[in-house]
Amino acid sequence: MTPPDVPLITIPLALSEVVETACEVVDNIVLVRASEVVSSTHCPRCQSVLVYRHGTISRKFIDLPVRTKRVLIEVDRQRYRCRDCGKGFFLPMEEFDARRSITIRLKKYIEGQGLRRTFGELAQEVGVDEGTIRNIMEDHIAVLRANQHFETPEILGIDEVHTERIFRLVLTNVGENTVFEVLPKRDRQSLDAYLSQLPNRNRVRVVTMDMWRPYRDSVHEYLPQATIVIDKFHVVRMASQAMESVRKKIRLELDRSSRVKLKNDRFLLLRRKSNLTPKQVASLNQILLEYPRLASAYRAKEAFFDIYEMDTVHSAKQAYGDWLAGLNEEDLASFKPLVTAMSNWNKEIFVHFTHPYTNAYTESVNALIKGINRNGRGYSFEVLRAKLLYSADAQITRSMTIRNMSWPAATGDTPSSGLLGLVITTMRRSGTTTTIQYFGSSIADLSQVLDSESKDHHLWSIRSTEKNSGVAQ
Ligand SMILES: [Zn+2]
Repeated sequence: MTPPDVPLITIPLALSEVVETACEVVDNIVLVRASEVVSSTHCPRCQSVLVYRHGTISRKFIDLPVRTKRVLIEVDRQRYRCRDCGKGFFLPMEEFDARRSITIRLKKYIEGQGLRRTFGELAQEVGVDEGTIRNIMEDHIAVLRANQHFETPEILGIDEVHTERIFRLVLTNVGENTVFEVLPKRDRQSLDAYLSQLPNRNRVRVVTMDMWRPYRDSVHEYLPQATIVIDKFHVVRMASQAMESVRKKIRLELDRSSRVKLKNDRFLLLRRKSNLTPKQVASLNQILLEYPRLASAYRAKEAFFDIYEMDTVHSAKQAYGDWLAGLNEEDLASFKPLVTAMSNWNKEIFVHFTHPYTNAYTESVNALIKGINRNGRGYSFEVLRAKLLYSADAQITRSMTIRNMSWPAATGDTPSSGLLGLVITTMRRSGTTTTIQYFGSSIADLSQVLDSESKDHHLWSIRSTEKNSGVAQ
């Protein structure tokens, strides 16, 4: 009688240190029995050749899954003993991770997948518990952190993003639209510590940032050559907020239905008038007729946005002067925070008109961090950072050829699992040097990776609830 579940396929083990002796499928798991190929010739401790076999011990290792089936390799580990020093030993094996009871190729697979998928999903697939996946990834990420460095940006973006009430500092390469670095805290001390050791920091020409004094002070100290530009969106947002404060005040005096209507129509007020349809403009005009105080604040908001449409610093400054002079007393009170900011950050705000760089990606990075956190609850900061920085699917590299220029030779090995290596890899070919520059993950591509992660995660959730959990986990 043939049991229904005998393996009809044989899977070549493709390992050099062990040879397969038997294979069966038990509870949907492929169980491969194997023994070691090489025998010991001498004692690793005293080099004596007087060694003898001293029984075997069976050790189980989880291997790469095959056709969605989990694979377990049970190796009969040969034990040896030395006659001279009396010590017992095993032969070392390089294809197995004895500490974690997995094969090295499974470890590499986990390292490759761990930045693209959630740990839970990966654990489910390969049959290793989530804690072990986390542990493998933490080790792997430490290696990445030590070996992967990105080209210092010419245009550096400094931004804070918050998730679960924790503020993180995100540094970006504004020119390349890539994530450059993520720091766990956004305080002056963290930024100082980081900028003070930033390699090639004199490369940075421009820094875009929010109006936050510690950032400015830190940049003045460590990147004195850089021009600070206050991100346009952080400035105009204050104009919108000022108008919103007026709308909210008016709302308090209204009956319920008018209040709801004014809330639902707020997008008409917040959007630029030029982006509204004729029908929306009509609704907007209705609101403005109804609430003169709001209308005044709305016009001030629109006029402030218009300042950023100016072509030159001179005309922008002129427009701002006119705008300020034109504010009535009530609007002046509502727009006070903006007016104060314009005064405290005047130079850095108007630099925008000669250096029109912005942190337009801030929202994307915020969304990314939230998405990553949502997909993998409880990720440590290091994992979050690695997912943002080293996601292989989103890496941007450029190569360029430099003639007659000496460049430091590359060091280190080619990194494993297809990920990128050092900041600059050089190859010399007949007098020219090709350098490959690494810029980190593209913010746009990361969004796509994250989307697919969300979908996978969703599918995986469905699958795992459908599946009865008769499989070893
Ligand atoms: Zn010995």
